[in-house]
Amino acid sequence: MDLQTKVKDVFSYKRYAKKLEKLNIITVEDFLFHIPFRYEDYSIVSKIAQVQEGEVVTIRGKIVDIRNAYIQRWKTLQKANVSDDSGIISATWFNQPFLVKSLPKNSFVSLSGKIKFFRNKPTMQSPDYELVEESSELIHTGRLVSIYPETYRVSSKWLRRQIYNILKLRRQGLIEYLPSSVIQENNLINFAQAIEQIHFPEKQEKAKNARYRLVFDEFLLLHLSGLKRRKEWDKNISNQRFFIAKFKKNIEEFWQKLPFELTNAQKRAVSEIFKDLGSKKSMNRLLEGDVGSGKTVVSAIAMYLTCLNGFQSVLMAPTEILAQQHYATISKLLKPFGIKVELITGGKKGIKNQESRIKKIANHNSRFMIHDSKNKIDVLVGTHALLYSKTGLDKLGLVVIDEQQRFGVEQRTLVRSKGKNPHLLTMTATPIPRTIALTLYGDLDLSILDEMPIGRKPVKTWLLPLEKRDRAYKWIEKQILKTKSQAFIVCPFIEESESMQTVKAATKEYEHLRKTVFPKLNLGLLHGKLKLKEKEEVLKKFKDKDIDILVATPVVEVGIDFPNATIIVIEGAERFGLSQLHQLRGRVGRGEKQSYCLLFTESKSETALKRLKAMETLRVGSELAELDLKLRGPGQIFGTMQHGRDLLKIASFSDFSLIAKTKRVAEKIFPELSKYPLLLEKIKNINLKQVSPD
Ligand code: ADP
Ligand code: MG
Repeated sequence: MDLQTKVKDVFSYKRYAKKLEKLNIITVEDFLFHIPFRYEDYSIVSKIAQVQEGEVVTIRGKIVDIRNAYIQRWKTLQKANVSDDSGIISATWFNQPFLVKSLPKNSFVSLSGKIKFFRNKPTMQSPDYELVEESSELIHTGRLVSIYPETYRVSSKWLRRQIYNILKLRRQGLIEYLPSSVIQENNLINFAQAIEQIHFPEKQEKAKNARYRLVFDEFLLLHLSGLKRRKEWDKNISNQRFFIAKFKKNIEEFWQKLPFELTNAQKRAVSEIFKDLGSKKSMNRLLEGDVGSGKTVVSAIAMYLTCLNGFQSVLMAPTEILAQQHYATISKLLKPFGIKVELITGGKKGIKNQESRIKKIANHNSRFMIHDSKNKIDVLVGTHALLYSKTGLDKLGLVVIDEQQRFGVEQRTLVRSKGKNPHLLTMTATPIPRTIALTLYGDLDLSILDEMPIGRKPVKTWLLPLEKRDRAYKWIEKQILKTKSQAFIVCPFIEESESMQTVKAATKEYEHLRKTVFPKLNLGLLHGKLKLKEKEEVLKKFKDKDIDILVATPVVEVGIDFPNATIIVIEGAERFGLSQLHQLRGRVGRGEKQSYCLLFTESKSETALKRLKAMETLRVGSELAELDLKLRGPGQIFGTMQHGRDLLKIASFSDFSLIAKTKRVAEKIFPELSKYPLLLEKIKNINLKQVSPD
């Protein structure tokens, strides 16, 4: 057995393997990285005669007697008396009949727990215990005792014992991998010490230093792996260095034909993108901007420049509906300039069926200016599944991935394998604070749209108690009839992916609203289990205003653009992260009319109400994300970004200052990384898990 051995292959752990997996313990080494979340302080050792009511202490003595007493048929009570040279104390436990064997009469024990006086005699109820043999070190009592995340039948005590044994046997396997200069300059303790002290600290102070070292390492490794991925990406010398100055006129014409003036943020993003496209390296850029900040048009300009240079673009969206919407938008923007835009639908299967059409892209090799054949496609729009099509795209110059909320390292690798190093633009509305984005996406450049198009009125947001539901419904009806606008009603978020349960709940709600609440209005239902044709039909009706209220599951979250919708009602609002709510709210407020967001909650929790109340005043996605980070912890802002969460075992993304510090360290040592093979190995092991489409 060494540290890399899988626990399922170790005889004594075999039967625990499934349970350990729940704790993310797969290899023997993972035990050592199972980090305690707190310590029980049993470090005060007292003579029995000196114990005080209510104090938490450790006593040591000899078992004078121990026996099982039966209370009822199923319940047993273990009673022991323990003495030292100063006095005697009694201890009791429940339902641990084996204790009479493991703590036999005359054995020496150490007991830790709270003292209670009972008829003037000191007692301990269910104390932690262990046998004291002459030389053995105490691990469960008489010290700071580590408390771990547990699972059924895997207790902290059991984990502590295993970790102790592994450390004893395999400590020499914990080799320092950081350069000594980093250790010195940052006052870090040695790696092996850190592991030892995080589990069995001598003092709180040492536990703190151990934790600091391990958190430091986590961030540092993450930064280094980003820098490494970036370096690998940059090796892709693009043979598609685009001409920009040459097409200045065309681009200006395009801007002029837009029905609006670009915001300054959009202009900045465009110029950052152009700079990349005109350089020798292939672009790898993340465009982050709140819903409605106008990312699509920015990507359209990039696609236009790509076409002008005689290359093709692919635009991918997470759902078919969005792909269709993009197809419509991009067509409207680009077709007037003679650009051929095509749509591929039908998920993975559809793409298989349409590979021959995709091939036409690959075969397209004429310059844009002279292209004429009806077979050629300049821009191909589809779902993320496009990425998984086997067809290589020789003339592919730009890949745009929309609403990319996940890590997408795998996607980026896939993109690289297509064509000849196409440029990559990833777009997201997930308001990740900049520091975090730079940590998670260390290999990306970042453009942020931090400005909304002018003329947008902020969406009026109200948090409503359930008593106001009827009045709210009446108000909605009046509003719709009076202003001819439309509304979304979003059903509660039940599970992460859309299950039948969610669909049933939405259907029921829809029937109820249609029959009893809004009989005068036309209602439609949209959920993830509808066939594509049905979805299209519903959305078309909504677009044509044949539907006044669209009842939907939370899948409508991303991207849909209906300027005439001015009201969004969100049920069970407390179940959503603030960023999600913000994205949902972004479905409205896209036109000239005043828009409204109504949040319903049954929750009485103070934190929940505080979070939701913040929606009424905060309008900037990243501010809401930061608030959620404070109130609910980092898990929330990521939502679907599971991966981000799994990457950090000990560190927290809210630790901005250490993130920044480790970033500087990473940048400093990265150029000479090859001198540190152990560190390189660690970076390789950072597991940026696979992400699959849909
Ligand atoms: P998102 O960033 O959420 O993807 P979209 O690209 O869908 O946003 O844009 C939202 C709406 O705003 C669209 O209807 C788009 O035409 C419009 N829009 C984009 N840029 C501007 C602008 N500078 N001024 C006014 N409207 C704009
Ligand atoms: Mg969008």
